[in-house]
Amino acid sequence: MATPIGHALAGLAVASFTHRADDAQAQARPQTGSMGALFGQFFYKRGPITVLAVLMALAPDLDLIPGMMQGQPVLYHGGISHSLGSGILLSLLAAWLWPRNGWQWRNGRIGQQETALAIFMISFLAFSTHLLLDMMGPDGRAPFGIPLLWPLTDMRFLSPTPILMGVQHTSNTTAGFSEFLGGIFSMHNIIAIAWECVCTAPFILLGEWHNRQRLGQSRMNA
Ligand SMILES: [Zn+2]
Repeated sequence: MATPIGHALAGLAVASFTHRADDAQAQARPQTGSMGALFGQFFYKRGPITVLAVLMALAPDLDLIPGMMQGQPVLYHGGISHSLGSGILLSLLAAWLWPRNGWQWRNGRIGQQETALAIFMISFLAFSTHLLLDMMGPDGRAPFGIPLLWPLTDMRFLSPTPILMGVQHTSNTTAGFSEFLGGIFSMHNIIAIAWECVCTAPFILLGEWHNRQRLGQSRMNA
């Protein structure tokens, strides 16, 4: 099981690949070269898709919430929310709810026009990175692995050799809040996050580079 930071970075990596070169549809403002302008460009053009991808990459771990409400955070963790079946359902929901013309913000629009298929694909890809990362990490708590192919089968999948270091909260399914929180802030988890950054950063940079290439190409053709 990877850390939320590793999952969020994987979502960013998906978002970094998914921008069209002709994103002039979005209202990019302000145009001056300040930090505020950079943020404005990001916010108006890429904000919604980036938020969507990051949320989808984190979504399977929402299964911590029912356990938290009972004072035992990991009670239901690693269940059917960690499956491709859940990814398809949630991505269909996102594609259905996403406004076809982008989001309205004050008098303008943020984000680009996206087809339902594009929203589905981005959502599903981002969600799948979560499953991939969790399968790569060690799992110190039974039942080991994730039910990847639910509802077809309840069989659990986990890499025989851990590639990530995994987040350590507790090995005890019925652990209370203080044991859970005490376990989170450990040196192990800090090093695990650093290793996840090393593993995901190349994909984010590759996506950004790929987008710049596409943008340059479309400007040359214009
Ligand atoms: Zn997870």
